[in-house]
Amino acid sequence: MTHHAPTPVPQGDIAVSVRGVRKQFGDLVAVNDLDIEIGAGEFFSMLGPSGSGKTTVLRMIAGFEEPTAGSILLHGTDVTKSAPFDRDVNTVFQDYALFPHLTIAENVAYGLKVRGVSAAERRRLVAESLEQVQLAHVADRSPAQLSGGQRQRIALARALILRPKVLLLDEPLGALDKQLREQMQFELKQIQREVGITFVFVTHDQEEALTLSDRVAVFNNGKIEQVGSPREVYEFPRTEFVARFLGITN
Ligand code: ADP
Repeated sequence: MTHHAPTPVPQGDIAVSVRGVRKQFGDLVAVNDLDIEIGAGEFFSMLGPSGSGKTTVLRMIAGFEEPTAGSILLHGTDVTKSAPFDRDVNTVFQDYALFPHLTIAENVAYGLKVRGVSAAERRRLVAESLEQVQLAHVADRSPAQLSGGQRQRIALARALILRPKVLLLDEPLGALDKQLREQMQFELKQIQREVGITFVFVTHDQEEALTLSDRVAVFNNGKIEQVGSPREVYEFPRTEFVARFLGITN
């Protein structure tokens, strides 16, 4: 007889619903009839090997890709056909995507400027945001003058300053070395607790997903093999694949 702890479902408001979503690129089925519910304020990770469909799901939530079938809801509103700009989400990418010709302060302020926030208010919010990631002293530098870890913090500040309801993070620590990565994991978790925003995090690193998340979805071949708390998927892997991927040998 097998023992399964019940899969914890998010309590309260649902921030993100992925309903019967499928994505095909020509003949290739990248995401296969997927259902996910992510609770408001949750740190939710999508974990799996390269090519298992994680990024494609993230890009559909962001609005960069349209599902072939199914729907995406954000806080109960169907956004399947909405442009990225009309969704209350923001994305942090692995390569940071900072504008090289703008200063750090200008990079962080960019989204506010696009949204017509006044110069005085921008200054105030940028100062506050740089303080939050402990980088007030680099405000006037250019991205090229920053370390990888600093650039990643700036990318995070730039995304958070817009106060999105949902923050999507695509392997945000993937370019950092191990030591910095561990430090940034800690900071990321701290910041998420502070701001209380829903984080949807893509990674192929099981340790990272298990350390950071409230719940983890383990992807394989466009499908979710198991979703649950880190402890649950680690202690009660439901499939051979999950056990192997998490490096559980017995
Ligand atoms: P993961 O994020 O888990 O590495 P992806 O979502 O990037 O996986 O990719 C899932 C599958 O879809 C892979 O086989 C990938 O090659 C394919 N794929 C992703 N984006 C595209 C695209 N724009 N065109 C064609 N195939 C794609």
